[in-house]
Amino acid sequence: MFDYQPSAQCLTNKTLLVTGAGDGIGKQAAIHYAKYGATVILLGRTVAKLEQVYDEIIASGYPEPAIVPLDMKGATPQNYQDMTNTILDQFGKLDGALLNASMLGELTPFANIAKQIWDDVMQVNLNAQFYLAQALIPALAKADSASLVFTTSGVGNKGRAYWGPYSISKFATEGMMQVIADEYEDSAIRTNAINPGATDTKMRQTAFPAEDKRKIASAEDIMPAYIYLMSDDSKEINGQRINAQQAQG
Ligand code: NDP
Repeated sequence: MFDYQPSAQCLTNKTLLVTGAGDGIGKQAAIHYAKYGATVILLGRTVAKLEQVYDEIIASGYPEPAIVPLDMKGATPQNYQDMTNTILDQFGKLDGALLNASMLGELTPFANIAKQIWDDVMQVNLNAQFYLAQALIPALAKADSASLVFTTSGVGNKGRAYWGPYSISKFATEGMMQVIADEYEDSAIRTNAINPGATDTKMRQTAFPAEDKRKIASAEDIMPAYIYLMSDDSKEINGQRINAQQAQG
């Protein structure tokens, strides 16, 4: 596991956006960011799940989060721009964004990939990440030190049979991360990608229905790398692919 012991208030005074914050890894990241002092903006498509995360954060006595209901399948660049303007009006800056939401699509032979599945996966996993990054970068530029984190996968730098659209979308995500990291190298914005590794969530259960869940990490287990990338301790890290389940060095 990635080895990082966060100090209790390492995210204090930070405003952080988490996409896909209602379930799985995004939910745990949102709760942990709040626990370490951040005000978290919870973006997701299922309002009831976002409200549950909101309630959990409030009940724990952490800073009050904000909710942004948005279905990334249908959202337009203007929707992300409007959201960013609201964030700027309310908070004045954005210190970090965890672009975590994505969809698996269907595991199927390449020859059988349906156009609709291809389009949906590319829309959510790639186009929406591009729209989000373009809208958010000016808000991130207003922070003293900002972190933009994309989410990749084990199939994001090594293709795998039957994982077509998802795998290809993650390769492109890593490419986008590298381009932004290179362009903004001399700025206060750092850009990286995190690979969670096998983690017990709905997506994982869909991809590997017969797997023994007790043998893989929980979303909570992998949080050290997620907290590290949002804390100032990762200030010098840029353009990297971070494996949440691998020790560094
Ligand atoms: P889950 O499917 O458990 O959670 C995904 C979250 O994204 C959900 O909250 C979901 O919302 C949200 N989401 C999906 N589609 C949309 C959409 N169109 N608009 C808005 N929100 C949406 O996945 P994980 O937590 O497992 O995955 C998180 C990230 O980690 C993903 O990028 C995934 O590719 C990556 N990953 C996960 C691995 C694993 O083993 N779990 C391994 C490698 C990478 P809702 O709850 O409403 O469905």
